[in-house]
Amino acid sequence: MPKRVIIIGGVAGGMSCATRLKRLDDSIEVTVFEKGSDVSYANCGMPYHIGGIIPDRSSLLVQTVKGLQGRYGLDIRTNHEVIAINRDKKEVIVKNLINNTTLTFPYDYLVIATGSTPIVPPIPGANSERVFVLNHLSDMDRIMERLPQSKHACVIGAGFIGLELTENLKHRGLEVTLVEMQDHVMPRMDSEMTTPILQELLVNKVNVYLNETAQSISEDGKVQLKSGKVVDSDIVFMCAGVKPNSKLAIDAGLETTPRGYIVVNEHMQTSDPYIYAVGDVVDTYDIVTGGRTSVPLAGPANRQGRVAADNICGRNSKFGGLQGTGIVKVFNLAVAQTGLTEIQVKQQGIPYHKAYVHPMQHPRYYPGAQPVSVKIIFKPDGYILGAQVVGYEGVESMINTLAMALRHKLTVFDLEDEELAYSPQWGGAKHGINMVGYVASNIIRGDVEVVNPDEIPSNAFILDVREPAEAEAGTIPGSTLIPVDQLRSRVNELPTDATIITYCAVGLRGYIAYRFLKQKGFNVKNLNGGYRTWSWFHRKPQFTYTKPTSPGPIKSETAPADDSIVQPEKHRLDVSGLQCPGPLMKVKQAIELLKPGDVLEVFATDVGFTCDVPAWCQNTGHKLINIKSEGKGYVVEIVKGPVPLPAEETETQCTTPKKRGLTIICFSNDLDKVLAAFVIANGAVSMGYNTTIFFTFWGLNVLRKKTKVEIQKTLLEKMFGIMMPLGVNALKLSKMNMAGIGTRLMKYIMKTKNIMGLPELLQNAINSGVKLVACSMSMDVMGIKKEELIDGVEIGGVGYYLGEAGNANINLFI
Ligand code: FAD
Repeated sequence: MPKRVIIIGGVAGGMSCATRLKRLDDSIEVTVFEKGSDVSYANCGMPYHIGGIIPDRSSLLVQTVKGLQGRYGLDIRTNHEVIAINRDKKEVIVKNLINNTTLTFPYDYLVIATGSTPIVPPIPGANSERVFVLNHLSDMDRIMERLPQSKHACVIGAGFIGLELTENLKHRGLEVTLVEMQDHVMPRMDSEMTTPILQELLVNKVNVYLNETAQSISEDGKVQLKSGKVVDSDIVFMCAGVKPNSKLAIDAGLETTPRGYIVVNEHMQTSDPYIYAVGDVVDTYDIVTGGRTSVPLAGPANRQGRVAADNICGRNSKFGGLQGTGIVKVFNLAVAQTGLTEIQVKQQGIPYHKAYVHPMQHPRYYPGAQPVSVKIIFKPDGYILGAQVVGYEGVESMINTLAMALRHKLTVFDLEDEELAYSPQWGGAKHGINMVGYVASNIIRGDVEVVNPDEIPSNAFILDVREPAEAEAGTIPGSTLIPVDQLRSRVNELPTDATIITYCAVGLRGYIAYRFLKQKGFNVKNLNGGYRTWSWFHRKPQFTYTKPTSPGPIKSETAPADDSIVQPEKHRLDVSGLQCPGPLMKVKQAIELLKPGDVLEVFATDVGFTCDVPAWCQNTGHKLINIKSEGKGYVVEIVKGPVPLPAEETETQCTTPKKRGLTIICFSNDLDKVLAAFVIANGAVSMGYNTTIFFTFWGLNVLRKKTKVEIQKTLLEKMFGIMMPLGVNALKLSKMNMAGIGTRLMKYIMKTKNIMGLPELLQNAINSGVKLVACSMSMDVMGIKKEELIDGVEIGGVGYYLGEAGNANINLFI
């Protein structure tokens, strides 16, 4: 009597098991029950049929029933739902969904491959005919029918499927709003690694709502959010995760987890030795933690199907466990992960280090080089716990190599030594994987001490070793710019009594600076992953765009009246293949040659440029009017400034600074008053005000260096100097000083609340271009010499002040 095997579910896990069974032992009678009308279809391709990228529906049907029957001799019953399992009799009860009859089928072995079902939150309107899930071909067909009548889609849930649907709905020309209840998209990843995804969504004009949940859906498809906002959609997609289809197993008394997953051993055998289970429905081994987990992905389902077949055929195959390797495309971006995230590592209490590395996918000199950003999490002994990779090209190669390294228990030291393919088009002589190994190993070996972007101490001296053009696109507040190539000659400008945090764009120049300073005896740390990673933590993209409009004719102030109308010209600049700061430097050079009002259209392939350019425009007085994706890159349109602001334009971040100014007379050297002056000045300069602080009388003490400068002075001047505070660190509160206790308390409170202290505010003001002017007359009266003042201070008299005040529209006296 041949073995009879029944398989419930005829797609990924079920069909891979069925075909393997027949390849191993053709005498086995294999019957597959599938409640849908197709088997073995590519559900992973469904979003792309919706987007029109896979135009032909039949391409998704990887195999047909007829084809499988012919090739393997399988008995495949579509439109047949298994409604119960009778373990005692080793039978399944099956309903024919076409004619509603019920039949009983005996088995020797049963394989449950019933997959999972999208979770639909129980909110009013969730069952409306405008609400869809995407799980089976039938779902896709219903969606395709509805789409021609739809203009604005709301996608609820920004995981794998939500992101794929979002992209594809945009391809079809719909307006799309993506709603996510977490504070970041791709909730399975660490938040900072998802910043580029958010940027990519915004560049592609997707409306994204984070920290939001849908509360109800109206009959016409409008979605009411928790915050009270309403998404004006007419079609809604529920992409809020999946739950296992395990009712049959639970009813049959098989062991399941509290969340309903079927528990299997390494042979994919359930608590009943004659019943196997595979795919989305099972709970199995986690190779990283050694615990249990479930991963709803096609790769594990297929591998598990093979393992179940092997064991049914008497082979002793074992499933190697899960690590959650996945990849998703979001417009031009690829996003991938394997193993544990940092959040999970923390939850498990596993000691770890992490490194952020942004190597190029191939050498810069070959056109089209793009960065591939990697976050690797590893144990103090070097074993890899997890990795996340984001980029444009080469992401799959990086994640697959790291996934294999993790599975085969390699360490970050092994990554240094991997011999990987390289030619100018691919990889690198120092491959990205080697770079990840070097950076991570340096951390373990103590060759570099890193500080993470979210852990920079407030009293650290932050040293930016990038080029000035890079700093124009944004800096860490309070940092001092000394390009790495000038560091040797300017090392005396650095403090010897503070922790210095070096940083550059991605970590390499910061590391070079670190090594130099460390050997010089400084207390120094390098910022993990550089400014790029820091900005992923602290500068979430919020680019709101204006509809691209022509800036209109510009009235020339100098030309004679007759020909005073200057028509703006449009110029195109291709900076593809260049990496930061290359694109910005080229843009800077190009824009200098244009006249105000001309439009520079820049084509770039570095997404970092799209992140940097809004701040750059803001800092340099130009106007960003649009960012959009084009092919494998981005087009950024900038109007050369200064340009007049159209009346309706109030929302963009990238408005041209109006001609406005603020002057502050700082008369006081009381800590609280000076703090107020700098808070206002920093705020004003960031809003585009030309800001000047004029320090006079006691206010001059704010500008004094914190160490005494040996200088020729009269006795009276010396006495004055001794009695007055030496710089910002020595200032006291005007009230409640209480012999210094109040001042210390205030500084402590500010620190605990993460409020910038006065030294940082001062440094930030200098970096941001606030003019600090010392009153020459007061200096004379108080015996303060130029050498005693901090760098960057100008000296001016009343005339200087009045000139600045005349150009300003706000004047304050503190
Ligand atoms: P499924 O492939 O879902 O098959 C289960 C089948 O069982 C279903 O056809 C169902 O009708 C049938 N069934 C259920 N109950 C019964 C019953 N009682 N009687 C008879 N039949 C029954 N994974 C990736 O790795 N990469 C991707 O890019 C990717 N993209 C995806 C995109 C979409 C839109 C979706 C929906 C999934 C995607 N996945 C992806 C996930 C992947 O498809 C699943 O993890 C995989 O298909 C799970 O295989 P499975 O065999 O467990 O279940």
